[in-house]
Amino acid sequence: MKIICIGRNYLDHAKELSNKVLSEPIFFLKPDSAIQPKGHPFFIPDFSDNIHYEIELVIKICKNGKNINEKFANLYYNEIGLGIDFTARDLQENCKKFGLPWEIAKGFDGSAQINDSFIKKDNLNIDNINFQLKLNDKIVQTGNSKDMIFSFDYIISYISKFYTLKTGDLIYTGTPSGVGKVNIGDKLTGFIEDSKQLTVNIK
Ligand code: MG
Repeated sequence: MKIICIGRNYLDHAKELSNKVLSEPIFFLKPDSAIQPKGHPFFIPDFSDNIHYEIELVIKICKNGKNINEKFANLYYNEIGLGIDFTARDLQENCKKFGLPWEIAKGFDGSAQINDSFIKKDNLNIDNINFQLKLNDKIVQTGNSKDMIFSFDYIISYISKFYTLKTGDLIYTGTPSGVGKVNIGDKLTGFIEDSKQLTVNIK
């Protein structure tokens, strides 16, 4: 399986990092080794002094497809999850500065946090999903799928022009504003609507 992540899909987040909003989605990959083994804490890697959390809704692909028409894209996923796209912001800034690929800043072990049980799409109002992230006891990010620049269907259609999507692939759909640094001892808790989906302890 592969993990595809969309960048700059929420206007307020693009602004907070002074990024240009693009006319097509920007995406990058994480390897499957980026997924944190269940129940493990996240250990801050020693190559970064600035690991950021990014809470994101995650699409799970349920059917193989290529060149998927946007009209039919909704047939290619039936579950939504919640994940954190951990980012070594210091390494990423360096990559951006020199026009280098982002992989070392985005694909390291544990950088793809994902909840255990996905939610059936039919149990959600896809165009109005509230989600949020708490850092310890404080809410640091709140988002809603209606604020995405590119919809789930558009993202699936667009990515499938370049990559065949396969059952089990995960698509992280971008983060709202409020990203920030994690420190040893922090606890991150993610919610879809009022339901706790994800807990990550930082070591
Ligand atoms: Mg992200």
